[in-house]
Amino acid sequence: MSITSFHPPARILMGPGPSDVNPRILEAMSRPTIGHLDPVFIAMMDEMKTLLQYAFQTKNELTFPVSAPGSAGMEICFVNLLEPGDKVIICQNGVFGGRMKENAERCGAIPVLVEDTWGAAVDPNKLEETLKSHPDTKVVAFVHAETSTGACSDAKTLVEIARRHGCLTIVDTVTSLGGSPVKVDEWGIDAIYSGSQKCLSCTPGLSPVSFNERAIERIRARQTKVQSWFLDLSLVMGYWGGDGKRAYHHTAPINALYGLHEALVVLQEEGLENAWERHQRNHQALRAGIEAMGLQLAVKEKERLPQLNAITIPAGVDDAAVRARLLQEYGLEIGAGLGEMAGKLWRVGLMGYGSNPRNVLIFLGALETVLHDLGASIESGVAVRAARAAW
Ligand SMILES: *Cc1c(COP(=O)(O)O)cnc(C)c1O
Repeated sequence: MSITSFHPPARILMGPGPSDVNPRILEAMSRPTIGHLDPVFIAMMDEMKTLLQYAFQTKNELTFPVSAPGSAGMEICFVNLLEPGDKVIICQNGVFGGRMKENAERCGAIPVLVEDTWGAAVDPNKLEETLKSHPDTKVVAFVHAETSTGACSDAKTLVEIARRHGCLTIVDTVTSLGGSPVKVDEWGIDAIYSGSQKCLSCTPGLSPVSFNERAIERIRARQTKVQSWFLDLSLVMGYWGGDGKRAYHHTAPINALYGLHEALVVLQEEGLENAWERHQRNHQALRAGIEAMGLQLAVKEKERLPQLNAITIPAGVDDAAVRARLLQEYGLEIGAGLGEMAGKLWRVGLMGYGSNPRNVLIFLGALETVLHDLGASIESGVAVRAARAAW
């Protein structure tokens, strides 16, 4: 055997996640590992809660990072809020809504789908109509920022409709948190989850979640045990519960949590509003460059996510060849289309630390060159000039 240490190449991560990790976070993660019941660690976790409450704009006591990726955040919401036979409306306008349906079915719940076009926001009128014809619905779930298409739904309105019909809400903010406004208390969201590796620019593998009193009441009133031991909130609450006494549940991923703590400190230093505004600004510059090359963003203007730019692949252009050249020649990763969108879209992330002028300009310059080499008649430098003018 002659296997040696693994050294990843330098990359610029402009796909749908993971996004470029802030070096401050990697440095924080290399600090010495201590015990997860060490009083110093517990004090750090108390700060983590405060920082997450700020990021989510909530006072919810039950706010913490699940020790697993965003998919586990989704699952913890579904398995705790749903019991066998419960009806749940799932608004689907992309890949992640489909996963919600899978989760609901595995809980023995009855999913009712509200389907919207991929690439468009969820239509609030359709949700309202479906709630009227299914008055026994207990939970409404939807994805705020559909990473598979780049569409942003009106979370505030969807939650307001669900609440008016007496339903609890589960909201996926994996891609929105830190990049676009997310206001848990103001909007009345009952259960919410996110991910560490998108606009928080931390390493993958943690899922911040938050549950309000209404959600906790529902969990307390369950007739059946949660089918997952690891994700059963009634057990997890023993560690995260507000009384300061932490009982062993599982060994926390100590160093990963140092990283998330640092990511949230970075967010707090910048300020949420400033972070949202920065994502908008860099998105507008990218958009100007894309349009100057004669390309189009796939989502209509009012519904676009600033952190995930879906670009329609022009007819005749070899999707895989372009992405391969960007990776090989520029170390630049962008995302391919997922599911229905395969071959139709490039997904360009400007998330968190990666939402900066350097990434916008490198991407535009590289794409311009690659498309030019493939025979497109694009005036050299046109995209970069348009982006600079937009700033
Ligand atoms: C990335 C993502 C997830 C899944 O997160 P993982 O960390 O990959 O498990 C869920 N929902 C949305 C909208 C996402 O973008």
